[in-house]
Amino acid sequence: MVSIGGLQAAPGALEEVRELLNSWLIPNDLRTPTERFDDFVRSHKIPSDIAAELRLLRDDLRLALRPEPGSVDRLNAWVLRLGVVPEIHQRGITYRHRGGLAGDMVAVTLDAIATGRWERLKECPDCRWVFYDHTRNSGKRWCRMTAGGPKGRSCGSIAKVRRFRERQAATA
Ligand SMILES: [Zn+2]
Repeated sequence: MVSIGGLQAAPGALEEVRELLNSWLIPNDLRTPTERFDDFVRSHKIPSDIAAELRLLRDDLRLALRPEPGSVDRLNAWVLRLGVVPEIHQRGITYRHRGGLAGDMVAVTLDAIATGRWERLKECPDCRWVFYDHTRNSGKRWCRMTAGGPKGRSCGSIAKVRRFRERQAATA
């Protein structure tokens, strides 16, 4: 699983946002929504007073992945609330803010949106795990997760079987 995460990790600081997003998922083997935010807080030594804010941000960022209606408004609200502003340099733009860790996450997200990397951050339709699509045509839909080892049920396998049967039926 570590190697899968490595292969599907996001570049640079966007990986930290991906880790935050993955503090909630529906594991392939359990098939039930699983909250891992407390683990995320512990492993990143996040102070309890900012944890609640970060969790709200995580939920809004997850909505922005699909994107759900209104998710853009939510992102804009975070930008305003945390005072995120662009700062122009000789080469490119960075983002200043007064929002602590949540501000860092929003700044990285804005940069990813501006550079087209955000669209490569995808939520697996099966397990909801967020991965970075490194493929040339950005055409990946499912993660590479498999339940119960490499020969177990993989994400997207039900959809793949359905498509295969449809093709068989069409050529029969
Ligand atoms: Zn998956």
